[in-house]
Formats: sequence, C-alpha cells, structure tokens
Amino acid sequence: MSLRNIDPDTSRIIELEKKRQTETISLIASENHASAAVLEAQGSVFTDKYAEGYPGQRYYGGCEDVDLLEDLAVERAKELFQAEHANVQPHAGAQANMAAYFALLEHGDTAMGMKLDHGGHLTHGEKVSFSGRLYNFIKYGVDRETERIDYQEIEQLALKHHPRLIVAGASAYPRIIDFERLRSIADTVDARLLIDIAHIAGLVAVGLHPSPVPYADVITSTTHKTLRGPRSGIILCRKELASAIDAAVFPQMQGGPLVHAIAAKAVCFHEAMQPDFEDYQRATLENASVLASELQRLGLRLISGGTDNHLVLVDLTAMNVTGLQAEVALEKAGIVTNRDPIPFDKRPRRVTSGIRLGTPAATTRGLGKEEVKRLAALIIRVVTNIDDVNVAREVREEVRQICASFPVPGIID
Ligand SMILES: *Cc1c(COP(=O)(O)O)cnc(C)c1O
Repeated sequence: MSLRNIDPDTSRIIELEKKRQTETISLIASENHASAAVLEAQGSVFTDKYAEGYPGQRYYGGCEDVDLLEDLAVERAKELFQAEHANVQPHAGAQANMAAYFALLEHGDTAMGMKLDHGGHLTHGEKVSFSGRLYNFIKYGVDRETERIDYQEIEQLALKHHPRLIVAGASAYPRIIDFERLRSIADTVDARLLIDIAHIAGLVAVGLHPSPVPYADVITSTTHKTLRGPRSGIILCRKELASAIDAAVFPQMQGGPLVHAIAAKAVCFHEAMQPDFEDYQRATLENASVLASELQRLGLRLISGGTDNHLVLVDLTAMNVTGLQAEVALEKAGIVTNRDPIPFDKRPRRVTSGIRLGTPAATTRGLGKEEVKRLAALIIRVVTNIDDVNVAREVREEVRQICASFPVPGIID
C-alpha cells in the first residue's frame, strides 16, 4: 500500500511541498536538491537498523551489511577530500562541531570563532548555542572597510587570549578563506585549528575552493549544502586524532547512527566523484558571479563588493528595506531566500539589514546565466516595490514560467 492510502494527511503535505519546490526557486545558500538516488538510499531499509559502535566493533548483532556500508562511505569520504580519517556518523553539521569540540576541548576552555553577524555559525561559540555555554569563545570578525576576514585581528586576539582551538569557516561569507594563514596563526599560539566547510564542501571536493585538509587538525561539514547529499554531517581529521574523534561522536555525543543517512552519504560521495559534479560546481560559481554583477549593476550593494563562492550577501540599508521585508516580499513572488545580518548590522537579528542569496539549488535544477540575470532583475523589482501586490503577482508568474522548464531532480511523478 502506498503512503497516499495509509496516511493521506502526511501524503498530502508531502505533495504540497513538492509543488512548492517545483513552482518556486530556492536561492537559500545552504539548500540544494538531492538526487533521486540519494533520496532512495535515505528511504531504504537501513532506517530499521541499530548499529551503535563502528565497523567490526558494534554493540548489536546483524551489522554485517551496515559494516560494508559504513566502510564504503568512510573510504569514499577519505578519497573525495584526500583526508587521513573520516567519521560519517554525525547526524548533522551542529553535531559534527559538538563532537569535534568534545575531542579537542575541556569544559570551560578558551576557543575562537567568527561572529554570527559577520558570517559565522551559531555553533562557533554563540551564547544561545551549546558551544557558547560550554566553552569560553572569543569572537573575531571582518574588517569594517573591506568586509573580509580580519586575519590581523585573529592573530592579535589569539596572542592575547591563547585559545586552545581556533574555529573558522562560515555560513554567510562570500570570499575565499585563507587556511594557510589561519594555520600559521594557530601555530604561533600552539592552538588546534578546526575548519568547518559546511557551506563550501562541494567546492572544496572539486578543488574550486582551496582545501583545508593540509592545514586543519579537524574538518567538519554538512553533506546537504553545496555537497548535495542527505541532511547530515561528517568529520575529517588526521590519523592521530582519529580515535579521539570517533569516541567523541559515539559514545560521548550520539547513540546509534542514522544508518539510512550513511547510505545516502555514500551515494552523495560517489556522485561528487563523477566528472559532471565538477561541472555543476563550476556552474554554481558562474551563476553566483553573474548574480553578483547583475545585482550590483542594478544598484544593490554587496558585502565585500562581490563573491568568490556560491553566495552573495546583499546590504539593503540604502534601499530602505529590511531583510525581513525583503524575505517576505520575495517569497510572495516565488523567490525563496533568507534574511541575514550584515557585518555591524544595526537592526535586530529577527529583522536584519540583509539577505543572503546562493546558487547551489537553482544550478542543480539547471538554471544558467540567462535565467540568473532574469532573476536578478526580478529581485530588484521586488525590493524596489516592496509592498506592491501586483508586482509580486507578476513576478511570481514569471518565476513560475522559469520553473516550468527546470524540474527538481528528486521529484519524479
Ligand atoms: C549549516 C552550518 C552548520 C550546521 O549544520 P546543521 O546541519 O544545520 O546542523 C554548521 N556550520 C556551518 C558553518 C554551517 O553553515
């Protein structure tokens, strides 16, 4: 029996979501559309299996197939990122970071992380997150003029506070991150270096963003952003730290792994090793660069003046529009984004002065430069006519027309 017959309520909601994804464009920089193969693996019978422990050392019987699967996923992750060790059990990016901290820090230790409103992540030491509650995080940010990471500030803060760990990597930072420089700062104060590539993992996998692997002690990532896999996490590290990382994931932090998610991660790593994945990442970057130049040409200010990666951060201050207003108006017009604080934002976090736009999901659907140019013009139309319902309706119609030519890969009916 199909889901539609067994549970029509849930089934109907899933159909609504398929329609929403099909008829709108996601420019949310952290989202992507997983392949039908990833979805199939994630929906497999591995959902049923308990497998606390690691291959060859489980606390449950019947794990021979799980062992094959986890070994496969680990080997692929190591190959993809040229890493010495991989742990594929973290449930998500936040859990990957939690485990990394458990392995590298003691409760109350001093660490450093990027400010949330400068592009960092909650789990990099924000007070509302476990990270800011368990550890003493010193926060660094971007330079006010260049709006790029202020490595000098990081060095000064490191010399002053002697952190045991420096955390870098971002959720809303449009520029290349200099891992070599961070390594040398960490070495000056004898700190460990954790690089969180949650956003840029897909770019790193194909060499379109420098890899942190030669420089970092530990690398954490999600698998569902540019990497285009299931909603999950991974940790990479050097051999010396392998057992500390594994013990931190299980039993210190998690119980049984989500084996079905590990199956989907194995598929995702396989897909990421195919030649067309590099083409996809290249197209994502090209689309982001076209989006940046079009938005600027049409009068919007971008944080740091542009982008090197898959996202742009728009400063709406001069438009007299808040991030929240833009997010709501764009959504009505079929363009799904998220408001985001800009560096030194004067507005509260639930309002903000910016929006973050990324091209990974739209590029997966096959949108190219022409469509991105059209989208840029539509975005401008919406933010310069913020409360105009007629404009929203017209733009929505045009977005629907674009969408009709670009089906979502995972939605096959
Ligand atoms: C998205 C993100 C995370 C958290 O990932 P979840 O899967 O949502 O827990 C961690 N770090 C960075 C830099 C991110 O962008």
